[in-house]
Amino acid sequence: MKHVVCVKQVPDTTEVKVDEKTGTICREGVASVLNPFDEFALNEALRVRGEGDEVIVVTMGPPQAEEALKKCLAIGADQAILLCDRAFAGADTMATSFALVKAVQKIGQVDMIFCGQETLDGGTAQVGPEIARQMGFSQVTYVEAVEQIKGKFATCRKETDDGYERIRARLPLVVACLPSPDFNPTIPSVMDIIAAKRKVMTAWTAEDIGGGAEQFGLAGSPTQVVKSYPPPKKGQGVVIQESPEDSVQRILEIISNKGFTA
Ligand SMILES: Cc1cc2nc3c(=O)[nH]c(=O)nc-3n(C[C@H](O)[C@H](O)[C@H](O)COP(=O)(O)OP(=O)(O)OC[C@H]3O[C@@H](n4cnc5c(N)ncnc54)[C@H](O)[C@@H]3O)c2cc1C
Repeated sequence: MKHVVCVKQVPDTTEVKVDEKTGTICREGVASVLNPFDEFALNEALRVRGEGDEVIVVTMGPPQAEEALKKCLAIGADQAILLCDRAFAGADTMATSFALVKAVQKIGQVDMIFCGQETLDGGTAQVGPEIARQMGFSQVTYVEAVEQIKGKFATCRKETDDGYERIRARLPLVVACLPSPDFNPTIPSVMDIIAAKRKVMTAWTAEDIGGGAEQFGLAGSPTQVVKSYPPPKKGQGVVIQESPEDSVQRILEIISNKGFTA
């Protein structure tokens, strides 16, 4: 079987700063990391890999996204592909998933595509489902674990608001993975890092994966980010330390002081 894992390099921070003048994200001085959801997706792909199976990681990004791929190879992926071309710049989720689909088609005979549920920066959770739709593959989102692959079916545990569902889905399949609470990221050893240097890392351009120039990057994006801004700061909260009986009285006082009446 052939498994593709889609990974994205993201800024290593949950407090992304936005340049108020240009509305763009300030990336200077912010280190980049492998999106944690994607690291979990890679772990799932490696966990279910059978004898003779191949795990290929793919990212679309700038040249420095190579670092994220190197980490994936050190964790255990067999091969890595960097989609890197000026033509990909300014891609929205549609153009991003289109480029990834073209890469998957070029790889050929793919049985499963593992994505993260979402990224730390964009966080739209659209790319995985869009890949499934364009490939005509089945899809399961919020996947905590791929429990079994048997014949033409995979059994996935999907997180829900109330617990989980166990879903049997037909291959070929896209799963969007969500780290389970007990997930411990792999820290590659020095030997793993050295071994990764001998693995295949390929760079593909827009021309390599085919498709018209108008389908990639800004030109292929039906949506555009008009403005980015940090969410407004929340007002200071009040900690109520009274006993449970007195705290109701205290809450009523606070509400009435703000001018609300029953
Ligand atoms: C210069 C620049 C300009 C942009 N302009 C626009 C714009 O005009 N309009 C707009 O809507 N967005 C724009 N974006 C953001 C862009 O849409 C997202 O970076 C991209 O589409 C992924 O969306 P997301 O982060 O929400 O991924 P999600 O949908 O949250 O990611 C889900 C999963 O998909 C996979 N994935 C996502 N991105 C990649 C990737 N690049 N390579 C491999 N796998 C991936 C991963 O497995 C990930 O966990 C721009 C980004 C850049 C860098």
